[in-house]
Amino acid sequence: MKFKRILLKLSGEALMGAKQYGIDIDRVAQYAEDIKAVHDAGVEIAIVIGGGNIYRGLSAEKAGMDRVQADYMGMLATVINSMALQDALEKIGLRTRLLTAIKMEQICEPFIRRRAVRHLEKGRVVIFGAGTGNPYFTTDTAASLRAIEINADVVLKGTRVDGIYTADPEKDPEATRYEKISFQEVYDQGLNVMDMTAFTLCQENKLPIIVFDMNKPGNFKSLAEGEKIGTIVRD
Ligand code: UDP
Repeated sequence: MKFKRILLKLSGEALMGAKQYGIDIDRVAQYAEDIKAVHDAGVEIAIVIGGGNIYRGLSAEKAGMDRVQADYMGMLATVINSMALQDALEKIGLRTRLLTAIKMEQICEPFIRRRAVRHLEKGRVVIFGAGTGNPYFTTDTAASLRAIEINADVVLKGTRVDGIYTADPEKDPEATRYEKISFQEVYDQGLNVMDMTAFTLCQENKLPIIVFDMNKPGNFKSLAEGEKIGTIVRD
């Protein structure tokens, strides 16, 4: 395996599958199978999931809600998604721990860095819920932050597209995919990989990001084996 410890970021929207809202259980089950394959190959896996399929603070603010209140609701949405994935992972025999940035003692552990690392060392899949625990942040930032904290080798951003393109491939048929791109080039080209806070955190801490298509079964495993899938951002 190419990586020893990875942080996998899944967007909330990815969990919707073909639905318009909420969680597609089949999709979650497919992700769980893919995660198991990589875990069984000996890779330590930590996961951050978004909440956009259930609730997004920014949209709620536009509709008139207080931003901070809405952001906390968004963070709770990530916990719901995390629990769905935890269930799917445990159903197929993986041991897991859900650690959240907001305390919810009855359903998960509070995030404690040393504990997270210990879980990983013991072969448990760790899911980080409730983002960073702070409003005005995103789960991409939570993914970068946690990856740095647990000393992950890489952040893998699983999306619906198979990498970073020169332009939006859905709008521009001429758009081509980068196999590798530097942090500076992403700034220069004005490409949207993660929000700036998340992206800068990776750059400053020399943490590579790989954007790849998580919806293709087996892709995650091939990537973990070192196949050149998606786009890698590194200096
Ligand atoms: N959120 C937040 N702080 C965080 C992470 C998330 O306030 O550290 C809120 C924010 O309102 C966001 C929502 O949770 O809109 C869902 O997260 P995100 O939009 O990152 O999910 P994704 O786009 O990956 O589904």
